[in-house]
Amino acid sequence: MKHVTDVAERFGAAAQFVGGRAVEGTGESTFSVVDPASGQPVWTYRTAGRDDVDAAVAAAKAAFPGWAAATPGERSQVLYRLSRVLEDLAGDLARTETLQCGKPIRLSTEFDVPGTVDNTAFFAGAARHLEGRAAAEYSADHTSHVRREPIGVIGSVAPWNYPLQMAAWKILPAIAAGNTIVLKPSELTPLTSLMFAAAAVEAGLPDGVVNIVTGTGPEAGEPLVAHPDVAMTSFTGSTAVGRRIAELAAGGVKRLHLELGGKAPFVVFDDADLAAAVHGAVAAALINGGQDCTAATRAYIQRPLYDAFVAGVADLMQDVRLGDPADPGTDLGPLISAAHRDRVAAVVERARAYADVVTGGAAPGGALADGAYYRPTLLTGAPQDSEAVQREIFGPVLAVLPFDADDEGLALASDTPYGLAASAWTRDVYRAGRASRALTAGCVWINDHIPIVSEMPHGGAKASGYGKDMSLYSFEEYTQVKHVMSDNTGVARKDWHRTVFADRSHR
Ligand code: NAD
Repeated sequence: MKHVTDVAERFGAAAQFVGGRAVEGTGESTFSVVDPASGQPVWTYRTAGRDDVDAAVAAAKAAFPGWAAATPGERSQVLYRLSRVLEDLAGDLARTETLQCGKPIRLSTEFDVPGTVDNTAFFAGAARHLEGRAAAEYSADHTSHVRREPIGVIGSVAPWNYPLQMAAWKILPAIAAGNTIVLKPSELTPLTSLMFAAAAVEAGLPDGVVNIVTGTGPEAGEPLVAHPDVAMTSFTGSTAVGRRIAELAAGGVKRLHLELGGKAPFVVFDDADLAAAVHGAVAAALINGGQDCTAATRAYIQRPLYDAFVAGVADLMQDVRLGDPADPGTDLGPLISAAHRDRVAAVVERARAYADVVTGGAAPGGALADGAYYRPTLLTGAPQDSEAVQREIFGPVLAVLPFDADDEGLALASDTPYGLAASAWTRDVYRAGRASRALTAGCVWINDHIPIVSEMPHGGAKASGYGKDMSLYSFEEYTQVKHVMSDNTGVARKDWHRTVFADRSHR
């Protein structure tokens, strides 16, 4: 793929990717991708309408029989080549991700893009390891075996916070298992999903296996999820929209995979390495501007370490360099949009009524005034049942609360509607064991918070959703299990026929 830095030159006016090629949408409205660092539009496209969704689903449906019949080895080869094409495009992908999201270029370069390349290489291998379990005579007269089969056309919807990785997490397990897919990225950040789809075709993926429709939730997302030819929906986004998706999917009794919001706790016991906990908390609260579903949002600190932890976090937060996300020296870029920054700021303003804002709590002025920036913010004194502790803020805001007994800290940590991720900080192996069991979350880290690996599952509990992304576990979502039971006697009158024919002799 040609290296192009100019968005308009790369994409032209085409924001839809249907049947192996980029095309213009036919929806009624246009939408602009805005650089959140400057507030300036960088690309305007025509959104997808119902006709575009229909065309994309039709392309995916037409491609399904051929792709489902490809051998695991053939699918693996394409994915392996895709990992190489993506690696070759790494610089363009990182710059484009930073442009559309405002995330620091160090994050795009060192996390988003290599994570996506690694995920692609993982599913190239995993495609060859799809297997059914057990071939055995569970009844003496029959041999049973299990086939694992693709489901059909998957209709997926993704958020704006990690657009490239979310596209990869949705597309890769689906196609590795032999499905075809239509993905709707967030209307705010479609660029790297379109690049991913084009790279897949360049790698040899047959036309129609991966399609992208770009538009708003109501205009493109709802018709996609509700489409009668879409057999399953995989959604990552907010819990509120997840509920709507579940309603839409229920009409067609579709299989559903929901990766929703989070409010991850960060529990520090009194024997923890304080410096490690302080650095870990600031990094895990501020990664991607706190717009990470697993970001540390509530730190529970056992009383003896509380004051030192608050002081250490405040110091480190004040050192963070806000600035142009394209500059490798920048630690914290803007949030996704001015509207989202204002939502974050409003939560902090309301929190002033019940909590102390130790540092932050404001947008920077000066040269950064036009961007969607917000300073790293530390809250203390917020009650457990307050908005700042219970609700997802999705910004660079950390609330710190004290606790006394171990059980109390662990109970507070699990006391929100969410259950996506959590961490426990201790040098005591027994405490770590008890914490990893007690915390209600899809992932528990011990003495760290954030890292992910392609081999391990990601997904939540409670209002954070159900189902797993990444790892071999994702195949549980994207395949259906078929039991095949073969008679191995060859007799016409089987024993169990007595339940119907009683003792009448065989005619
Ligand atoms: P969002 O729910 O507002 O939007 C997500 C996607 O849904 C977008 O593509 C949007 O256009 C689409 N959408 C909106 N309304 C729709 C509708 N009625 N029908 C169909 N589609 C619709 O979320 P967001 O603001 O883009 O992303 C932030 C949220 O995503 C946070 O809550 C975050 O925790 C969550 N998230 C979760 C995970 C996870 O793995 N659990 C990962 C990343 C982000």
